[in-house]
Amino acid sequence: MVRKYIVKKKFKRSWSPLAEAFSRALLPTTPLTISQWADKTRQLPETSTHESGQWRTERFPFIKRIQDLLSPSDPTQQIAVMKGAQLALTECALNWMFYTIDHSPGPFLYVQKTLDAVNVFVKQRFNPSVEAMPGIADRIGTGKTGRGTGDTTATKIFPGGMIRFGGANSAASLRSMPIEKLCLDEEDSYESDIQAEGSPSELAIRRTANFPRRKIFRISTPTIKETSSIEPLFEQGTKERYHIPCPHCGNMDYIRWKNIKFTNDDPKTAMLLCENCGVLIEERYKTEMLANGIWIAENPDAEYPSFHISSLYSPYGFYSWKDAVTLYLKAVRNHDSALLKVFVNTVLGETWSERGRSIKASWLESRKEEYEAEVPRDVIVLTCGADVQEDRIECEVVGWSHGMESYSIAYKVFRGNTDSNAVWQQFDMYISKTFQHESGIVMPINVVGVDSGYNTKIVYEFCRIREHKYVYPIKGDDGWGKGILDRPQKRNKYKVWAFRAFVDEIKSRMYSYLQVSEPGPGYCHFPVNDEYDSAYFGQLTSEFLDKVWSSGKYKLRWILPKGRRNEALDCRNLAFAALNILVPDFDSLPINKPLILNSQPVQRKRRHHSKGQS
Ligand SMILES: [Zn+2]
Repeated sequence: MVRKYIVKKKFKRSWSPLAEAFSRALLPTTPLTISQWADKTRQLPETSTHESGQWRTERFPFIKRIQDLLSPSDPTQQIAVMKGAQLALTECALNWMFYTIDHSPGPFLYVQKTLDAVNVFVKQRFNPSVEAMPGIADRIGTGKTGRGTGDTTATKIFPGGMIRFGGANSAASLRSMPIEKLCLDEEDSYESDIQAEGSPSELAIRRTANFPRRKIFRISTPTIKETSSIEPLFEQGTKERYHIPCPHCGNMDYIRWKNIKFTNDDPKTAMLLCENCGVLIEERYKTEMLANGIWIAENPDAEYPSFHISSLYSPYGFYSWKDAVTLYLKAVRNHDSALLKVFVNTVLGETWSERGRSIKASWLESRKEEYEAEVPRDVIVLTCGADVQEDRIECEVVGWSHGMESYSIAYKVFRGNTDSNAVWQQFDMYISKTFQHESGIVMPINVVGVDSGYNTKIVYEFCRIREHKYVYPIKGDDGWGKGILDRPQKRNKYKVWAFRAFVDEIKSRMYSYLQVSEPGPGYCHFPVNDEYDSAYFGQLTSEFLDKVWSSGKYKLRWILPKGRRNEALDCRNLAFAALNILVPDFDSLPINKPLILNSQPVQRKRRHHSKGQS
């Protein structure tokens, strides 16, 4: 053995570089893995969110196994990753795309939520990376169609293949060609059914059927538990988690949020507890720990590999444990369920459950309290939400304070046919009145939101001539992940600013505020007042969330049980939507100073409106 080794070494040395190159040319070339290729060729542009210059897989050690599975030398066909942000998973998808162009050509489809989003991705992420790699740039647009035509925002043609960029909102962009490699990025954000052709993921996956060596890469930050696509994919796969060694005892474990410890609510003190030896590990050990980590599967016999990784793994110098604790504390202190959801989804990379939010009416009613004045001292803004029915208008006036602490001020019902004028006159008189603030100031209602779902034209006309009093029509709409409000770009054909409010998410916010049990951020105060009776609290708590099977996917819906009424909840939601019309950034307002807006002369309506929007 020893002799053989020496001979070989000697023999090799005696060869000239030319001879060596010649011999290498005769050997069959072994294809590189994506990691090997990227470590040699992939350049990150200056504009990269991570580092610029040469890509190094060792900076994100957990990505190596995923890139190896995506490499043609591995037979794996489907890979699912449920993830947090700041983990370079999209860079990994880009590595795969450039590898395909340079090293292993074939038809490739990359999908994001919408065509608009994918266009931005091509311009901001894909193209700048290509410019940083002249070798790749030279190959794009040089297919059969010739340079120029093969290099568009939607399509990149190269010798032996093409990459198409599809939007999950466009069936046409998903079914255009057979695909060998498919990347479904942020799959949880896709609509469940597009243009009556079913799930966009299924539509795209069908295009891969004819390729025995196909690869399907499904990566997503999870969203809502009840409707998530990526969580079931993770659960049914191998369920791999990245285990890293404790620098003190060597115990291998994955990073759990419950083991991130901090003292005195100070994010700077964030450290990782080792469950085995009880030592608190500083974040500066992370680089070494990540480098020595391994993926460990909970279901090793599953049919395809699936991974979970949170932002707590983001390499040292990127997203830190301190950042995670800061976000967490901000959400918890303010009882801000929307922010807590962001934390759970994008930092922990876990789903957020919207269920189990039912609240006892009697508990809320027992909290009624005497106010010192009609409008308590903490109130900065007064809004009114009005629900329009056939035979009445119901409205609630709500006072808002910092941290979304709210004070119910009054609940009124104006009876009369809403096709005729009388009931509207009563309502108008009421919303024109002023309220006595504890500070002594007399306060008007700052903004009124009127439901325009019923008797729409009458509501529009009522609001149009009261725009100077900040009275706006609001139409309730369903759907998750769209925020609170959709702001119109211009007046509609009835010459009003017609707002859309996304009630699913607003109800979710309201119900999380109603659950807050102690005065402070998010807490809802109710006055001792006959208007706030058992019937009111019954309506306020009437709905619950449930998942409903629809078009091949679960959807999360608010359910109103038969025989129950919900006008009080609608009014509260409209008052909250109205607040968001006026002051989207509530915390920018001065503390304990009631907001008094000047009513504007009619000709200055537009300017005054944009002030409200800014
Ligand atoms: Zn340990």
